[in-house]
Order: sequence, then structure tokens, then C-alpha cells
Amino acid sequence: SERRPTNLNALADEYLKLAYHGMRVQDPDFSVQLCTQFDDDSTSVVVSPQDIGRVLLNLYNNAFYAVRQKQQQQVTGFEPQVMVSTQVDQGTIVLLVKDNGTGIPKNIMDKIYQPFFTTKPTGQGTGLGLSLSYDIVTKAHGGDMRVVSHEGEGTEFVIQLPLF
Ligand code: ADP
Ligand code: MG
Repeated sequence: SERRPTNLNALADEYLKLAYHGMRVQDPDFSVQLCTQFDDDSTSVVVSPQDIGRVLLNLYNNAFYAVRQKQQQQVTGFEPQVMVSTQVDQGTIVLLVKDNGTGIPKNIMDKIYQPFFTTKPTGQGTGLGLSLSYDIVTKAHGGDMRVVSHEGEGTEFVIQLPLF
């Protein structure tokens, strides 16, 4: 859909609040520490704010789900945390969504971008989020998307978009 100059910091922050609110509506007991660290430099990108918004929403919902899962496992001393940051880097903007949730097991790492792949119970996941997000970022916006995850420790998704 329509592209226009978009402040990625503002978009990332707005959708973080939206996702958190949505999660709290579903589960009023859910709580998580949200940390944001946005680059002060101009972070205006020409994107479809709607489509990048969908990407953000999916990454946030995945992160919240992962920390909630770990919270329900009653891991001693566990403090759920989701960190979002942006950083301007050599003509690109790097957006990070990091959680300290369940992590992604090594043996499913090569499947997470496949359409309809989900580990969530029926009704809780379509398995389309990451496959759609990957296409939006790489094909539609000429960007890049990467993931680093350690089972039991957490996950970090990195999105990189060209600034010009
Ligand atoms: P869905 O959320 O509907 O399951 P996605 O495409 O968004 O579909 O994600 C696919 C799968 O990747 C998830 O079911 C989960 O197993 C894994 N996954 C994605 N993000 C995370 C995360 N932050 N922590 C742990 N697992 C994740
Ligand atoms: Mg998802």
C-alpha cells in the first residue's frame, strides 16, 4: 500500500503500545518490562506505514507470547522484558526487537519463515506472521530481516531498511 516518509521511531513506539494494550486485554495478568532506545538521528524512511506496522505488530506479539510462555513455566527470578531499539547505520536503519522469552529451538529455526508454520495451539497462531513480515521487509521495501535466538534465553529479530 501507499508509501510516505515515516518516522520509524514514532511508528515503532505507537505499535508497541498498541500490541501491549492488546495483550493486556487478552490477559489482564500479563506484564512485561518494555525498554525502548531510539536513535536521535533522523529516522525518516519512505515506507508503507501500514505494512511496516503489521511487521512490528507481529514481532511484538511473538515477543510477548514468548515471555508469557516462559512466565507460565514459573522460571525462578524471571522478569519478562521486551526491548525495542533503532540505530542509524550507513544509510540504513536497524530496528531490533529483543525478548528474553522461551527462545526458538535450533531444529525449527529453518522453518519459522515458512507460511503456516506455527508452534502455537490452534486459534492462537496462523503461522503467517513471519513469512508475511519477511516479504514486506525484503521484497516490498528492499530491506533485510535476521534472527538470533537461543532456546530458553530469548530471541532477537533485526530489521534493516534503507534510509533513502
Ligand atoms: P505465529 O505467531 O502465528 O505462530 P509466526 O510466523 O509469527 O507465526 O511465527 C512462527 C513461529 O516462530 C512461532 O510459532 C514460534 O514458534 C516462532 N517464533 C517467532 N517469534 C518468536 C519469538 N520471539 N520467540 C520464540 N519463538 C518465536
Ligand atoms: Mg506471529
